[in-house]
Amino acid sequence: MPSIAFPSVDASILARRDAILSGLAAILPADGLIADLAGRRAFETDALTAYRRLPLAVVLPRSVDEVARVMRFCRDAGVNVVPRGAGTSLSGGAIPQEDAIVVGLSKMNRILEVNLADRYARVEAGVTNLAISEAVSADGFFYAPDPSSQLACTIGGNVGMNSGGAHCLKYGVTVNNLLGVRLVTLDGDILDLGGSEPDAAGLDWLGLVCGSEGQLGIVVEATVRLIRAAEGARPVLFGFDSCADASRCVAAIIGAGIVPVAMEYMDRPAIAICEDFAHAGYPLDVEAMLIVEVEGSEAEMTAELARIAAIAKGHGVRVTRESMSAMESAQIWKGRKSAFGATGRVADYICMDGTVPTSRLPEALQRVGEICAGHGLRVANVFHAGDGNMHPLILYDVNDPAERQKAEDAGAEILKMSVALGGSLTGEHGVGIEKRDLMSCQYAPADLAQQKRVRAAFDPAAQLNPAKVFPLEGRGA
Ligand SMILES: Cc1cc2nc3c(=O)[nH]c(=O)nc-3n(C[C@H](O)[C@H](O)[C@H](O)COP(=O)(O)OP(=O)(O)OC[C@H]3O[C@@H](n4cnc5c(N)ncnc54)[C@H](O)[C@@H]3O)c2cc1C
Repeated sequence: MPSIAFPSVDASILARRDAILSGLAAILPADGLIADLAGRRAFETDALTAYRRLPLAVVLPRSVDEVARVMRFCRDAGVNVVPRGAGTSLSGGAIPQEDAIVVGLSKMNRILEVNLADRYARVEAGVTNLAISEAVSADGFFYAPDPSSQLACTIGGNVGMNSGGAHCLKYGVTVNNLLGVRLVTLDGDILDLGGSEPDAAGLDWLGLVCGSEGQLGIVVEATVRLIRAAEGARPVLFGFDSCADASRCVAAIIGAGIVPVAMEYMDRPAIAICEDFAHAGYPLDVEAMLIVEVEGSEAEMTAELARIAAIAKGHGVRVTRESMSAMESAQIWKGRKSAFGATGRVADYICMDGTVPTSRLPEALQRVGEICAGHGLRVANVFHAGDGNMHPLILYDVNDPAERQKAEDAGAEILKMSVALGGSLTGEHGVGIEKRDLMSCQYAPADLAQQKRVRAAFDPAAQLNPAKVFPLEGRGA
């Protein structure tokens, strides 16, 4: 795959920069507009740090009204808009270009309503994922989707990417836990889609907005489902002498109809990296490890664990370690959830996000190893195995252009292989700029054209998060 390309910048927008800044300054208070170089630099990339582009300006609205006025202004001025939460996108979804303004939602970070009787919370888009669970944990509730970035990432970004996490195997991803959104369109219209009750009449707007990557409008509020925490939860580590045995065990557990809360896979390089960082007590002498978490009453957990342990035994498990305390459980999850940060201490990496049917995991993992070895690159695998959502972390040196190219080529091969095995390009990280040119591997031209028509119904001139998701002209895979 050729390196990620950027379309040319609209020079007419750059030529009008002063007028555009004056227009935005008339809408926002002084601390809501960032125009200086140093300030804009903080918004030039996201977690796809190999790529960066300075935005024309950054606005940080505090209210729905300010968002609506900014949107109308940008529509009329023909300026592109890039919505942004915390900028933790791994697919470059929040990376701007020089002719775009970034609309950051970080100042809209209030929890507006918690209703435990009806089990929902209504929050502004800039509230972090973790803050929702923290707000209701004392009452025994939580918000289920738990991206490993949950301390930083926002609910608006989660909706944008339809994010998942380790505990989504049982509870589903963002779209399964969202009841309503308030969306501001490019016309400045304020749409209330869904509500606080499930199953609003009419079209499934939430399904459309979830994963729309900021291309339909700006989410300013979300109403999310709250779940009553189970009586107990227990992670168990299963260590295997071969990656094939571990991945076949995953397929067998899912194939048996068992749905643990979480089932995560780590191979030897990932185990070493995470153990070094978190001291979680992971076995260092195995080729692969599963973290399987069950929940419920003591009797329910014991029964489900017995079924899982029997399947693991049939797949040659050598190490089994049940968590014996809340502190031990926290350490086990700390290790897993720090995986990306811990890997960043060791090397630069790109994280792939393809999914495959769980029955195809063994061959998919073998192919990942072969593809990376073929490019002379190291790889660490740590991923949501129960969902078949693979995250090969391809290690490379960002300062070596040839190696970067190899890493991107290997990544593209892995994603194409995922689609070929009956999976998809992205399980939870979105398409962004990273995978847009590969979309034609998964979708026929007619499918992509129809998706673009839906987008155009919201944003005819494609001003919202432009040049994302869809292949650039002449660059389909
Ligand atoms: C260490 C690390 C671990 C991660 N682990 C996971 C994981 O386990 N699971 C997972 O799914 N992801 C994970 N991610 C990826 C990332 O955190 C998610 O994609 C997250 O949802 C992005 O949220 P954000 O607030 O940072 O959004 P941004 O990165 O700012 O934006 C993401 C996308 O959403 C759009 N957007 C943002 N806010 C809005 C809004 N208010 N309205 C409309 N569109 C908007 C943006 O335009 C962009 O397209 C991880 C990232 C890192 C760095």
